[in-house]
Amino acid sequence: LVEARGITKSFGPRTVLQSVDLDVHEGETVVIIGASGSGKTTFLRCLNRLETPDSGTVRIADVTIGQRSDGRAAEERELARQRRLFGFVFQRFNLFPHLTAAQNVALGPRRVLGIPRAQAEARAVAELTRLGLADHVHKRPGQLSGGQQQRVAIARALAMDPRVILFDEPTSALDPELVQEVLDAMRALAAEGMTMVVVTHEMRFARSVAHRAVFMADGRIAEEGPPAQLFGAPRDERLQRFLRHLE
Ligand code: ATP
Repeated sequence: LVEARGITKSFGPRTVLQSVDLDVHEGETVVIIGASGSGKTTFLRCLNRLETPDSGTVRIADVTIGQRSDGRAAEERELARQRRLFGFVFQRFNLFPHLTAAQNVALGPRRVLGIPRAQAEARAVAELTRLGLADHVHKRPGQLSGGQQQRVAIARALAMDPRVILFDEPTSALDPELVQEVLDAMRALAAEGMTMVVVTHEMRFARSVAHRAVFMADGRIAEEGPPAQLFGAPRDERLQRFLRHLE
């Protein structure tokens, strides 16, 4: 479903990604792990063009991001449409504080997709219910816990009907006791067959939910495979060291 090829990115003199290739299949959950600064977040942001890679291509569902079907550069509007094939869940939830959970979730579908308010809010309530937030749809972010706010942010991504959802360390801004409810919601999405790419430091989650794990080191994929293999019998020395440090 997603094919990233040769993704390379530098910030000034520093090369952060060196020709990264990754395939993500429909219905698959891929987890990206690695030490701080290894390029995980930058890679995720290059997939949906929150960052523009210096070189390399991202194809999703037969669309090459940034290109029209005739191979010419996509214009802004076309690029915006292409980018919506990806949903994105940030470390910080970025909800509008003055809007209710349902209004936050309905905003994108209304403003961007032009869906009428009543229909967008009905869908928002359905997505929030799916994430266990049926009792909170009319609350504002300030009345919700961090874990609930992050689930609202996931509902907001889902409401745009993306083909893939990218998660950038979705639990690392949460108090420890709130992490599990968000991971459980993500686990349920994975079980429903949502295609997901998750940058995370939650190794238990990575091990138990991912179909495939990817270990990044120094801007490259150093090792990838089934989680049982990466966690159980790591071959790359840096991965071995990384896992030892977590113990
Ligand atoms: P972490 O787990 O700490 O989030 P990461 O593996 O996700 O780390 P990245 O956030 O992708 O790593 O960062 C990789 C490197 O790129 C870091 O050295 C970071 O300082 C640098 N970097 C990231 N974004 C920018 C930017 N906008 N400008 C300059 N340098 C950046």
